[in-house]
Amino acid sequence: MTAEVTHSLDKEFNPWLAAEARFHTAADTLGLDDGLRKVLRSPAREITVNIPVGMDDGRLEVFTGYRVQHSIARGPAKGGIRYAPDVTLDEVRALASWMTWKCAVVNIPFGGGKGGVICNPVYLSQGELERITRRYTAEIIEFIGPEVDVPAPDMNTNEQTMAWIMDTYSMHKRQTVTAVVTGKPVNLGGSRGRTEATGRGCLLVAQEALKLFGMKPAEARVVIQGFGNVGGMAARLMARTGFKIVSIIEYDGAVYNPAGLDIEALLLHRKATGSILDFAGGENIDREEAMFLECDILLPAAKENVLHSGNAHRVRAKILCEGANGPTTAQADEILAARNVFVIPDILANAGGVTVSYFEWVQDRQGFFWNEDLVNTRLEEIMVNSFQDVTGLAGRHKVHNRTAAYMLALDRVAFAIKLRGIYA
Ligand code: NAD
Repeated sequence: MTAEVTHSLDKEFNPWLAAEARFHTAADTLGLDDGLRKVLRSPAREITVNIPVGMDDGRLEVFTGYRVQHSIARGPAKGGIRYAPDVTLDEVRALASWMTWKCAVVNIPFGGGKGGVICNPVYLSQGELERITRRYTAEIIEFIGPEVDVPAPDMNTNEQTMAWIMDTYSMHKRQTVTAVVTGKPVNLGGSRGRTEATGRGCLLVAQEALKLFGMKPAEARVVIQGFGNVGGMAARLMARTGFKIVSIIEYDGAVYNPAGLDIEALLLHRKATGSILDFAGGENIDREEAMFLECDILLPAAKENVLHSGNAHRVRAKILCEGANGPTTAQADEILAARNVFVIPDILANAGGVTVSYFEWVQDRQGFFWNEDLVNTRLEEIMVNSFQDVTGLAGRHKVHNRTAAYMLALDRVAFAIKLRGIYA
């Protein structure tokens, strides 16, 4: 690849530039004025902290962490914290703005936030991770809280990380404050149904999209990239609903069965062997080949930028259901539109997770916990209504679903800002 091509792909893959491109397309269609655009685009607060941590071998190390609160116009900032060696402020900023739009699309009373710590969890012990987490929490403590900013897990953070944050915050406040984070263990104020929520949300919007195509789940061939929390759960729930999951793609290859894979058996096979490959109920195929199989639903649920200007023309799916955050670049949007692919954009398709996080926050604050059926019923109501809001707007304005989702979100946030007025 030439330096020029690499450079332009770098730009195409930059999450902040991608967020900006989508923002402006929607803002133009809405006719938003310049002043409001400036307010909506600018993160409300960006915090950088340098965290000294004592390592297991006695060394002292300093880690850099960020917390960006993009918007608090509709409620407390909401969004995950990721631990990774390549975390940048630009990335955290983009992800925080995505959270603002995602919460607004599903109409839950949160703004958007995101955090990150530059570290490589592969080389850190549990003790080191705990000390990093607790010191990071202590450094941002006056900027988080149930009414202020509510973190959650993201890449390389989990229920345990949330339990440490909750405990550190509670120790400082001298009382147990479960609602400061979501994604906690169920016996520590977590919500039933949270683990399945993002995959369940994907299932619910995929079902709605199928109705528009006059198709039944049993007629739908599905390809899923990523067999983790989102993809694994979506696969399991879709298979139970009768969808035919014809291929699962993982980082080391893909498995294929045109008659539909037995997902429960594949999960057991992966548990036993550590890989989805060499599964008795399917054949190994190339990852690229699988991604571009002819199918009804393609569900990328692994990572960002997997569909871009160099490969979007190869997509042969009727419906693209974006389980991952940012799996499609802004340049790929036009290519997919030209191919008439029906896109369920990430800020709608994967919003089931943050919706049940909202339920968790509500339950913590009420001190009254719901059973799983109630969680799932309320999730379904929100996902189905949001799908109809987005596709209805797309139809009325003759725009793509992604633009419609951004328009809906921008309009809701702009309306809140206008109603509140600018404090001076
Ligand atoms: P995960 O780590 O549980 O699963 C990701 C899976 O994708 C892993 O099994 C990994 O091996 C696989 N993978 C990685 N690179 C791959 C590649 N190049 N090709 C094929 N497979 C690959 O993560 P997750 O929580 O399922 O998140 C997946 C995506 O969904 C991310 O973009 C995340 O931001 C987004 N998301 C997650 C949630 C949630 O609730 N977990 C909510 C909203 C959005």
